[in-house]
Amino acid sequence: MRLTIVGCAGSFPRPDSAASCYLLEHEGSRILLDLGSGALGPLQSHTELRDLDGVLLSHLHPDHFADMCGLFVTRRYSPGPPMSKIPVYGPSDVALRLAQAYGAKSEERMEEVFDIHPLPAEVFTVGAFTVSATRVDHPVEAYALRVTAGGSTIVYSGDTAACDGLVSAATGADVALFEASFRHGDDNPPHLHMSARDAAEMASAAGVGRLILTHQVAWHDNSGALAEAADFEGDVVEARPGQVVEV
Ligand SMILES: [Zn+2]
Ligand SMILES: [Zn+2]
Repeated sequence: MRLTIVGCAGSFPRPDSAASCYLLEHEGSRILLDLGSGALGPLQSHTELRDLDGVLLSHLHPDHFADMCGLFVTRRYSPGPPMSKIPVYGPSDVALRLAQAYGAKSEERMEEVFDIHPLPAEVFTVGAFTVSATRVDHPVEAYALRVTAGGSTIVYSGDTAACDGLVSAATGADVALFEASFRHGDDNPPHLHMSARDAAEMASAAGVGRLILTHQVAWHDNSGALAEAADFEGDVVEARPGQVVEV
């Protein structure tokens, strides 16, 4: 399975990165984990938009789903052969929220292009990928996404504070793609985000092999993140736009 970091900026785009968007590819199948603000542009450097097979949305903050509006436009109105519907999974109100974001009069409008589902409680498949979603600790309904293909597993935290749900979602995974919005030692509010130290502790508790820190926010100096995560025993890197990782 191949991971491409399309956008990794936390909370809003940075000059050098879109907000959250991660492309997973395996045996010709392509899905997205989130499609946040600004990500539809750089996404086109990594795949044809018509080649996408599905989108998984961790939660419905704009930095994780805003560019679904642009994806709707491209799949509905691009010249050329009509594009088939693709599955979109997200929190329970995902169909309504997509319609509201687009200014559509009804959820049926979005169903012209997307086959929209709430994230199920059980394991499900999208394209070549096996997926499970676990509720995590964020002010809105938010999920960690565990994705397996070709015998390899990646777990994406979405946005969350450190929590047991994240450890259980990530247990034994090959790669943890964990958010590190906060800096350890700041006066951080609870139930919102992790620091790089939190991410390393969660990845260690889950026995994950590799840790990728993401969702770093532009208003912070994040230069201490790797040092915060130094106690993690496996490899740890910071996400960079355009980075490709073989999971
Ligand atoms: Zn976010
Ligand atoms: Zn969020």
